[in-house]
Formats: sequence, C-alpha cells, structure tokens
Amino acid sequence: MEKLYWSKRNYLFKSEKYGWLLYAGLSNSFFKLSDELKKAIDDYKQGKELNIPQDVLAKFQKTGVLSKYTDEEFDRLYLLKWTKMQAQNDYMNLTIAPTMNCNFRCSYCFEKNFRNTKMMDLSLTQNIIDFANKRKVKRLNVAWYGGEPLLGLDFIKHFNHETYEAGFDVSQSIVTNGYLLTEEVVKYFDFIWLKNIQITLDGNKETHNRRRPHVDNPDSFGRIMDNLEMLYTYCNFNGYWPNVNIRVNIDKTNEDDYPKIKNMLYKKYGTFFNVYYAFIHDSNSCVDKSEVIINTENEKDYKEKLDKKYCIDDETFYPTQFGNCFCGAQILNNYVIDAEGLMYKCWEDIGIKEKAIYNLNERQFNNVLREADFIIKTQAIFDENCKNCFMFISCQGGCPKHSLENKKKCHVFKNNVQIFLERHYEKSLHKDFIY
Ligand code: SF4
Ligand code: SF4
Repeated sequence: MEKLYWSKRNYLFKSEKYGWLLYAGLSNSFFKLSDELKKAIDDYKQGKELNIPQDVLAKFQKTGVLSKYTDEEFDRLYLLKWTKMQAQNDYMNLTIAPTMNCNFRCSYCFEKNFRNTKMMDLSLTQNIIDFANKRKVKRLNVAWYGGEPLLGLDFIKHFNHETYEAGFDVSQSIVTNGYLLTEEVVKYFDFIWLKNIQITLDGNKETHNRRRPHVDNPDSFGRIMDNLEMLYTYCNFNGYWPNVNIRVNIDKTNEDDYPKIKNMLYKKYGTFFNVYYAFIHDSNSCVDKSEVIINTENEKDYKEKLDKKYCIDDETFYPTQFGNCFCGAQILNNYVIDAEGLMYKCWEDIGIKEKAIYNLNERQFNNVLREADFIIKTQAIFDENCKNCFMFISCQGGCPKHSLENKKKCHVFKNNVQIFLERHYEKSLHKDFIY
C-alpha cells in the first residue's frame, strides 16, 4: 500500500466525557474514534502496518485525515488553487455605494466622518463599464452598499439599464437599513432578479430605535417591520425568492436582543428571514467602544448563552469553511466604489481617500501598492502560525485588513477547540461518524 501521511490540519484529543474526538481541518470534518482505532493510528505513525477497517480508511482518505500528499505538498497545492482562483478573471465583484449619505444615525457607524449628501454621478457608470471592459469581463457581481444605497435608487436603475445595454450579465445584492424598502422597490428588485437582501435590525423596538435612529422618525423599527411584512407578502404572492438576511449588530449592551428578534421573526415568518448576529468591533466604530465590545475571547460564552439560555438550536459550535480566501479584498477583480468614483479594496476603507487605489474619474491607479498588499501580503500560508494551524483551511488567516494592520485575531474555534468539539458532538449524536 502507498504511504499515507497524517495531516497537520488534524486536531485529535481525548475528551474526558466522550473519548477521542478528531477535527479534520483539511475538509472541516469530524470523527469520534474508538481507543482501538486511536491505537492503530499511533502504531502506524511509529512505522507499523496500517491496520484499520477499509471503510474507515476510505473516509479518512476522502476527508484528508490520511493522504498520499505530505503537508508540504498540500501547501503547494493550496497555492496552486489560490493562483487558479486569481486567474479566473471572467467576472468582477463590485461593491458600489451610490451615496455615502444615510437616513439613519447609528451610534457605531464607521462612516460617520465621510457622510455627505453627494450622489454618484450617473456618468460614472460608463467609467465602470470601461474599467470592466479593459479587464475583459462580461459578468459583474454587484453589491449595493452605502451610506444607504436606496437613497441612490436612480443611480442603481441607471446602472442596470446601461450595463444591460452594454451586454453585461449582472448579478446583484444589497445591504440596506430597510427603511426605504417600499413595494415599488421590491418590484424593481424582482425585475432585476436581485438575489440577496441584507437588512440590519439591532433588536426590539426600544433597542433598535435607540441604536439606529432615523433622522426624523423616532420609530424606524415600526417602519422596517411593516416593510418586512410587505416583502414577505410580495415574495409569497409573486414567486420572488431572494435570500433575505437580517443582521443583528451586537455588543454587550444589546446581546440579549438578538435571540428575541430572531425568535419573534421566526414565529411570524418561519425561515423566510435568515437572522444572524455580527459583533461590532473596534475598527468599525467611530467612538471608543472597547468596554462593550464582544470579542473572540468571549464569543464562546455568548454562544453557550444562546444555546443554553435561549435554546437557539441552530447556534453552531463548528466552523464553516470559506472558499480559497477569507474575503473578496484578496481577489484581483474585486473592488469597492464610493460615490465620488474612488475605488478601494476593503469595505471599511470606503470614504478614506488616502486608502483609495483607483480613481474612476481620472481613470488611473494612484495607490497600486495598497492593492498589492491586500492580494500578496495577506496570504496567510506565508505566516508561520497560520501555515501550521489546524484551522487554516476554515479560517484562511481571517480578515486581511486586520492582518495588514497587525491586528490578526484567531478564529474563536481555535482557542476553544476542545470545548467546541464536545458541544458539537453532543449536538450531533445521531450522525454516523463514530468509529
Ligand atoms: S478586509 Fe476585513 S474589514 Fe475589509 S471587507 Fe474584508 S473582511 Fe471586511
Ligand atoms: S488566524 Fe489564527 S486561527 Fe486563523 S489560521 Fe491563523 S493561526 Fe489559525
């Protein structure tokens, strides 16, 4: 039999409660091993024959627990995959803010300092088309962003018309606060087959209105609730099925609102809305929120609380696997455009002129080194810690901006792996991965 190698992405430990638990990081797989199987693996590592059942061997090979490739060869294959991904240049991902203006005044908004009433000039559409043509792409994945993008609906409509006329295949999504989501807007979304809608709600009425106040309506929550009802009804009657994600931004002051809003929407609309939480972190806040931030160190406790206190049973103690990078900022044909026609790599750079890499008005790159940094410097396989980390394939080194700023944060799973694997095992006892 050919030689097989135990992957450095495996994490194996003996749980006091459940025995041997194995996380196979190459494929994000999980196994519970018997003592005999553990011993057979130890024997093999010490040079004896591999003596494990054929079906187990097949699963171990399929999931990369054991492989004909060495760790060093896998690292090379990873880089090959990365290179192929960068060479796949028949599409372009564009996050476009038709305005940086917003009808909300959220306390934690990181764009506060760049807010102005300017709308994107319609003529910039042609510059975007020319930019895409130069790269020879015919497919555009556009995420409408802001400010509040629905304040710039005229630009969105113009852009759709012009790119259609120019022969582009355009796939779209939007990040909105949901306040201007009228039936007319939803009809338009249906018309352009907009696939993903992300709306932010920060909790129940009192919490949301306090944290995300509208400029003049004290009850933005009520208006958004009405809009969600309309969206749900429209979709049900018209066969339009976008993914609607409700993001709840939380810190220590509203962490108990997330389960409440999630349960409330579930009771009314079943699984139509996908409700999830996101931590507010210090770099996306204009004010010092270090006192109230929930960070990866206490994310574990938050997950436990959701599970035990609120019975949120879709709370996962298991990592999800990204593609070949953590974020689009690391991909060549991936840009963020602000209302003035400046292009950036990262969503959080938007509005910070010195971080812009290309100027659509002047049709020229002015900070190509920042682009190089995002694509090359953030490659985590060259970081010694990440390179040898069992979490690497799932984590990919985390947010590239954090990495450039030397603020890299490890995945919550990494530092809690034993507790999380035990919890995952408890929640999955019916599954057939036990040997
Ligand atoms: S680089 Fe980080 S902050 Fe910027 S868009 Fe990507 S994940 Fe978000
Ligand atoms: S950032 Fe941390 S968890 Fe992620 S791959 Fe690197 S060392 Fe592992």
